Amino acid sequence: MDDIRQTDPDIYDLIKQEERRQFDKIRLIASENYVSSAVLQATGSVLTNKYSEGYPGRRYYEGQQIIDQVERLAIERAIDLFDAEHVNVQPYSGSPANLAVYLAFLKPGDTILGMALPHGGHLTHGAAVSISGRYFQAEHYTLSRETGLIDYQQILEKARQCRPKIIIAGHSAYPRILDFEKFREIADEVGALLLVDMAHFAGLVAGGAHPSPVPWADVVTTTTHKSLRGPRGAIIMCKREYGAAIDKAVFPGIQGGPHNNTTAAMAVAFREAATPEFADYAGQIVKNARALAETLCKRGFDLITGGTDNHLLLVDLTNKKVTGKQAARALDMAGLVVNYNAVPFDKRKPGNPSGIRIGTSAVTTRGFKEAEMFQVGEWINAVVSEPENERLITEIGADVAAFCKAFPPPGIA
Ligand code: PLP
Repeated sequence: MDDIRQTDPDIYDLIKQEERRQFDKIRLIASENYVSSAVLQATGSVLTNKYSEGYPGRRYYEGQQIIDQVERLAIERAIDLFDAEHVNVQPYSGSPANLAVYLAFLKPGDTILGMALPHGGHLTHGAAVSISGRYFQAEHYTLSRETGLIDYQQILEKARQCRPKIIIAGHSAYPRILDFEKFREIADEVGALLLVDMAHFAGLVAGGAHPSPVPWADVVTTTTHKSLRGPRGAIIMCKREYGAAIDKAVFPGIQGGPHNNTTAAMAVAFREAATPEFADYAGQIVKNARALAETLCKRGFDLITGGTDNHLLLVDLTNKKVTGKQAARALDMAGLVVNYNAVPFDKRKPGNPSGIRIGTSAVTTRGFKEAEMFQVGEWINAVVSEPENERLITEIGADVAAFCKAFPPPGIA
């Protein structure tokens, strides 16, 4: 970092401040993590200097002797990790990955069916403000009002009505395991392709803590930077027969040159994710989420679906007489970083909804186990019970920072 300090003290200072924040606070945003030092180093390597439009062995620029090997390694490792038939490692992130799938299989105006955004779906699953909702006829399924669970019968009925070309399974805020076999049956019945966007739970799949969608889906997309603990980016996996269409959609369909530094960092992350240690990590993420769920339930919190099977909890704060935004702000000031989130059938607006989403991927990376999660739950309860109590929040913030010293995250001294 000495060179940044000399060249650009402003950015150096901001990076250092962010390092401090990531060290001193308990990061519970379900889509975030801490990458290893090895992944950080690959991300910051000289591979950023190279242009490589095309694919290994078929590039539009010379000088690819090394880059081709890097990309091939990333592809092979992803294939091995997820037992996929074909992998494209070039998508810049999760949103372009999903867009590439649509470009590969849809014409403007074609119908897609995905989980509604306020029920835990992602923007790219057909939300009205997203290109996926503007260029395609987007239909949505919702969760059961009674149980908060996916209602497969409702999906089947919607699919029969709207005859989508693509059915999307996957979410950003659903605390339970998905039944991919049921999704497959529904897709087959209406002749749709099945796209599973496993961005959130890919690390759990890699570590064996969540069933894999790969045998069931035609196409699987995932970001690489959430529970999978790699660099910011995404991959697309698909059946062999769709490989050429997916590759063409990524490049030249929507992207130019791949970010080779990211590709290398992905390869490193895939290697890490194939280890027994990573399987332990994935299992611990779920144990930690369950421990936190247990503590919060004991303290009278209303968890959507009553608990969790994965890395996240969705909490409806209506009975606590505090809004999601108020709670998230107060928690952040106390060093407990979550995001406010809509809950299914939320009566409040998305800018200040009724809930918060809490994830355990990042704290598990820094070594938290069940005992630490019980403590985190007690702090969350204390802050949410008195979100205006500045003295209490300051005290908890200090306790949190002291607590964090015993759990140094990777890559931060
Ligand atoms: N898909 C899902 C399910 C997500 O949760 C996200 C991001 O949170 C994305 C796609 C988009 O990823 P990105 O933010 O990298 O574009």
